[in-house]
Amino acid sequence: MSEVSLEDIASLAKRRGFIYQGSEVYGGLSGTWDYGPLGVALKRNIMQLWWKMFVDDLDDMYGVDAAILMNQKVWKASGHVDTFTDPLVECSNCHNRFRADKIDTSKCPTCGKTDTFGKPHQFNLMFNTHVGASWGSFEAPDGKHLAGDIKSIDNKTRQAEVMVPIKEGDTFDSVTVYEKNARTYLRPETAQGIFTNYKNILDSFYPDLPFGIAQQGKAFRNEISPRDFVFRSREFEQMEIEYFIDPAKWEEAFEMWRQRVHEWFKALGLPEDKLHELEVEQDDLAHYSKRTIDFEFDYPHGKDEILGLAYRTDFDLTNIQAASAKSMEYRPKDGSKAFVPHVIEPSFGVERALMAVLVSAYTVDEINGEKRNVLKLPKHLAPIKCAVSPLLKNKPELVVKAKEVYTMLKKEYGAVMWDDNGNIGKRYRRQDEIGTPFCVTIDFQTLEDNTVTIRDRDTAKQTRLGVEALKNVLDR
Ligand code: ATP
Repeated sequence: MSEVSLEDIASLAKRRGFIYQGSEVYGGLSGTWDYGPLGVALKRNIMQLWWKMFVDDLDDMYGVDAAILMNQKVWKASGHVDTFTDPLVECSNCHNRFRADKIDTSKCPTCGKTDTFGKPHQFNLMFNTHVGASWGSFEAPDGKHLAGDIKSIDNKTRQAEVMVPIKEGDTFDSVTVYEKNARTYLRPETAQGIFTNYKNILDSFYPDLPFGIAQQGKAFRNEISPRDFVFRSREFEQMEIEYFIDPAKWEEAFEMWRQRVHEWFKALGLPEDKLHELEVEQDDLAHYSKRTIDFEFDYPHGKDEILGLAYRTDFDLTNIQAASAKSMEYRPKDGSKAFVPHVIEPSFGVERALMAVLVSAYTVDEINGEKRNVLKLPKHLAPIKCAVSPLLKNKPELVVKAKEVYTMLKKEYGAVMWDDNGNIGKRYRRQDEIGTPFCVTIDFQTLEDNTVTIRDRDTAKQTRLGVEALKNVLDR
């Protein structure tokens, strides 16, 4: 278990402008989070690092950015409509709802009563929505509303028979009618946007096997109990790869991606002793998977999944082939027999990576007998690369010179912060807490010899050097 608490991380994230509760001003919306200026910078740095490592730096990878809304047939063929469910139980005493596989169902975690849970109900995690205008709606004075699918429609009389999900005894006061075909879902994973573009990539780029397609983007799951800060959210971001292979070579491709996952952890600065591989038991494997490793991290709430690596066989492509009646076969360039490739799927979650980065970087130490909070982020992930300050903000000559240095560095690095709030000690503490690797201060000596002090976040050591040498330190 980690020494940092979830509260430490969440409170720093809110106080310093990394992450806020979604819709907070209206009391929040459970499972949603808004990223502030520093959070979005950190998140983008993580996502860009991933794109560089797994797309730009490799010569067999293709990036895509598919639509979030997809034809409903995608989710039928993939099995999500029928099986993307979690077991839901409700306590008959306090009526709180839980994921049955995440609690001890003999005792309610909220009210403490025993034997209050019945049989689990399979709850589908996909968010439903409808594409296009509705046929019409039947309003009720008190605004109660229920949506349904059209079962049949008489085009002469414009009368429709509507299917609405009600139980005996339910009452409702209004109905909105949609065409059944208009139903779709917010995507619960980015992977299907990759599979549906596999054929496009084959036709546009004629890649040799093995090759991979990568995608980053939002995914939505109506989690039964979103919790543990951003760890389990209802709207989150994934970074997924489908690596298409000859099935005879799946073991070596799996091993290659296992190694690459470890390189990723290293690049994020995660300590090795907090990372674990959980080889999913044969009996627990998803029906399409021949091997899965859940990579786990020691989060403040316990050891939990940070990402997954799965051998998904040809499950998705053969399903698409059957449902679309379009061939998903790959034709080897040597003229040998065409076949449907298999896939290795590394599936990364952005929020879980970001949380592990924050947990690993969060440090409380002592500098010159004074306690400080410092985020020892890897320099390439830090939201702010460098802060620039005049020693005193009421000395115009210092401010003018400091602005000149600031403008020069900002042009070069972008993520440079001007900081003249409070005294210099307070500025250092603030920059330490948001993980800024360097603070540059312009003082009276600068005006004489064009040298500045640069302070290192981790050692708190200050070095004097010429303005022209700053880049050497910042680029290190
Ligand atoms: P869990 O068992 O924790 O619900 P999962 O096995 O369903 O996760 P996958 O479907 O394998 O997760 O999704 C791949 C990755 O997407 C996960 O390893 C995780 O990093 C991320 N992820 C999945 N669900 C969420 C969520 N609700 N919030 C944040 N990240 C998520």
